[in-house]
Amino acid sequence: MSTAIPLDVPAAIDHLMNFLSVEGVTGHEADIAAAVSSALKKVGVPESAIRFDDANKRIPLPTETGNLIVDLPGTRPGPRLLFSTHLDTVPLCAGAKPKREGDRIVSEGKTALGGDARTGVALLVVVAETLIKHKLPHPPITLLFTVREESGLHGARELDPKELNGPVMCINVDGQNAAELIIGAVGQENWEVEITGRASHAGVAPEKGISATLVGAIALAEAQQAGWFGKVVKPEGRGTSNVGIFGGKDGKPAGDATNVVTDYAFIKGEARSPEASFAKAIAKGYEEAFAKAKVAVTDHEGDTADVKYNHVTSYPPFKLEENSPVVKRAIKALGILGIEPKILFSNGGLDANWLDKHGIPTITIGAGQAEIHTIKEYVNLVEYEKGCRLGILMATMDV
Ligand SMILES: [Zn+2]
Repeated sequence: MSTAIPLDVPAAIDHLMNFLSVEGVTGHEADIAAAVSSALKKVGVPESAIRFDDANKRIPLPTETGNLIVDLPGTRPGPRLLFSTHLDTVPLCAGAKPKREGDRIVSEGKTALGGDARTGVALLVVVAETLIKHKLPHPPITLLFTVREESGLHGARELDPKELNGPVMCINVDGQNAAELIIGAVGQENWEVEITGRASHAGVAPEKGISATLVGAIALAEAQQAGWFGKVVKPEGRGTSNVGIFGGKDGKPAGDATNVVTDYAFIKGEARSPEASFAKAIAKGYEEAFAKAKVAVTDHEGDTADVKYNHVTSYPPFKLEENSPVVKRAIKALGILGIEPKILFSNGGLDANWLDKHGIPTITIGAGQAEIHTIKEYVNLVEYEKGCRLGILMATMDV
């Protein structure tokens, strides 16, 4: 039955090659947004249907444009569908030159490729092109191309869902294989701590100093002892945590001489869990460890370091029911394509985390990205073609 889907495979690959050749690392999405707008106009989307929101004004990092939003009026009645993906690539993709090698697209040279998520960008354009060219009956559709996904899901987070005109479900394209349906993902809590001790000559009067490095070291050992480091499995929940940065001010080391008691240390980490409350519990576990370590390190008069600990939610977790309409739609479409679905839960955040939080049940499908965020990145064109067919089917099927 898959042959019944009128997919122009060479044209779909041309779109992908074109988008892969446009640089657009996170925060610098203006050029790729322009390339997408121009491709959409060429396939018959009126200019008036293409717009940007003002999410970039709320993103706390410099960002060239807002999210790109496109309305495709329905050619039959039905609840509105949203298709989403992200425009930006990781910085390792800067200067990427795509090259076809058999049924793969690889990058020439020493950069990543950017199939994450240009496969999604191309797929959304292919869906629009196919619907228009073949006059396929479809309900109203909104296309959403987000910015700054790779640097913290910012575009999706700062999106005002009212901009989308009320979609009932979303198909987010940011995965590897077409068979893999991502129906949930962990949430993440970021934590950081500033430890201010007191400097003193380490040879002459070490007892007058308060070592910030020692407070940090004891705290991390304490957190590990209490079961909060790495893979966390407790009766109350499960998750992961990591200590990413242990240093000083402005990227300098904590301390800069062996003969001075370190007066300042900065430590930054994360905690993830399928339960928002447990990700917070892990962050609290670290907070308690730092409080214990603080009192364990004193100078000769009993003074302790100043410890400032903070944690903030980076993104919330979500999980769709397996019998929810968007999951059923994806499974049915895969069935038509003769593909056995694989239901996955992601240990990393996706735009889907925020779209779901905005009230739009969101499934994430794959379209051939592989070995992402590495210089070995490539696009699997067999999976890309399957993903395009899956997207067209999900846009047009009746269920
Ligand atoms: Zn991605």
